[in-house]
Amino acid sequence: FDQMTTLGDVARYQARVRGDAVALTFEGRDTTFADFDRHTNQVANALIAEGLSKGQRIAYVGKNSDHYFELLFGAAKAGVVVTPIGWRLAPPEVAYIVQDSEAPLVFVGPEVMAQTPEVAKLLARQPKVIAMEPGSDYPTFEAWRDAAGPADPAIPITTRDVAVQLYTSGTTGKPKGVMLCHDNILGGRRQAAEAKMAWNTWGPDDISLVAMPVAHIGGTGWGIVGLMNGAKGVVAREFDPLKVLDFIEHDRVSKMFMVPAALQIVVRQPRARQVDYSRMKYILYGASPIPLDLLRECMEVFGCGFVQQYGMTETCGTIVYLPPEDHDPAGTPRMRAAGVPMPGVEIRIVDEAGNVLPPHTVGEVATRSIANMTGYWKLPEATATTVATDGWLRTGDAGYLDEDGYLYIHDRVKDMIISGAENIYPAEVESAIYGHPAVAEVAVIGVPDEKWGEAVKAVVVPKPGMTVDAADIIAFARTRIAAFKAPKSVDVVDAIPRNASGKILRRELREPYWAGRERRVN
Ligand code: ATP
Ligand code: MG
Repeated sequence: FDQMTTLGDVARYQARVRGDAVALTFEGRDTTFADFDRHTNQVANALIAEGLSKGQRIAYVGKNSDHYFELLFGAAKAGVVVTPIGWRLAPPEVAYIVQDSEAPLVFVGPEVMAQTPEVAKLLARQPKVIAMEPGSDYPTFEAWRDAAGPADPAIPITTRDVAVQLYTSGTTGKPKGVMLCHDNILGGRRQAAEAKMAWNTWGPDDISLVAMPVAHIGGTGWGIVGLMNGAKGVVAREFDPLKVLDFIEHDRVSKMFMVPAALQIVVRQPRARQVDYSRMKYILYGASPIPLDLLRECMEVFGCGFVQQYGMTETCGTIVYLPPEDHDPAGTPRMRAAGVPMPGVEIRIVDEAGNVLPPHTVGEVATRSIANMTGYWKLPEATATTVATDGWLRTGDAGYLDEDGYLYIHDRVKDMIISGAENIYPAEVESAIYGHPAVAEVAVIGVPDEKWGEAVKAVVVPKPGMTVDAADIIAFARTRIAAFKAPKSVDVVDAIPRNASGKILRRELREPYWAGRERRVN
């Protein structure tokens, strides 16, 4: 790992030690580590030929593909910063990010191209567009790449040069461009590898599934982890539960990362109980709170090791993990924890003024490590309030530490419901209600209340063919959590609004109730 301090070095190193091994496989196309190194040289040379230079951005709007990773690592060899953009975003949102990133060159997947006249118009305004796949009038990625020479451009890159600009999920507001340098991406992972934790150790037979969108750290970060460890990465174009089961069965996947909302969809497939999981070693999950009942169901069905991950785009992914040994379905309280800091990561709980709070006191989670972002793109004020000058980053999440250093995440500070004098965190209420036999999905929000300031409301999606009764949900919640945390009212809906990371968009659910009123934000 010492030889892999930049993304370019990862490609070079793996080509040297395992050139013939498959690095990426995508819809029947295998790319060896030697191919990967050569292709990334070509990408770098092609970008230089386009007149791009160190520090400039290029944008990628599309689903997952092996070529995305070639673009990312190739650009890094030229010092060019890749900005992946979620293909599920609406055209105006894509336009916002493309413009915000100032990318002169946009790489577009077929799914985006096919979308709407609005997208066509947006692309027509771009100085240059390259199509990831044939079928349009734009030059294709492969032709563009293969027109360039295979020699390493040997551009000097420092570990502090920005390599990727990932936008946050936009759960609490407009997505922010997070600048991550080579140190941010690889430094923490190098430190973690040294600790040789079994779940984080990779062997030559490990096969990783990249099924989460590359526009988010759970896709891009996870893909990089596999490449860095010399594992074969099976790249899924998009998340599809039946294909996930196919990949597990036929591609012998041994490790995968998935958000709880995706795990829920996979585990509920009737076929999920017929698949052979003997090759699967670890399932890593995180990015939003997981209801305990869902976690137990997954452990029972998949029967492999589970590792929770807590982190954010701003920390380049995982900073806290809950190891497999703390996943005890018999119900140790540890199952509710997000886990302990990764090697090299410091975690503190602070109050608003930044004072450090003692164990078991709820406050804002702050963290310091090499993985903390370089900054938000073009947002100096947001950067200054998030990353204090002493290197501590404020996560915006509420939580506490126990005496053994386990972190318990309650929820976003902004989503906390203050009802009377009590602080209530939606995730805990959601986890309680999720166990109700008629509930498929649930979101909890605070709505205005004359007497209490805010009151807890549950928004529930019933399981197919079932009905839910508000009084019954409230009574059920009261058997599992304190009465003051139980909802005062229940709405029944067809679907819960979520973003591409599977996160509940509570601000959207709250909006009709708060229209015209100011909701206090901590
Ligand atoms: P935005 O910052 O634009 O509102 P976002 O915070 O959802 O969007 P991400 O960086 O993708 O964007 O997500 C990080 C957040 O996800 C964390 O701050 C935390 O709230 C949540 N999260 C991540 N992992 C976990 C976990 N294991 N348990 C609970 N919440 C988690
Ligand atoms: Mg955030």
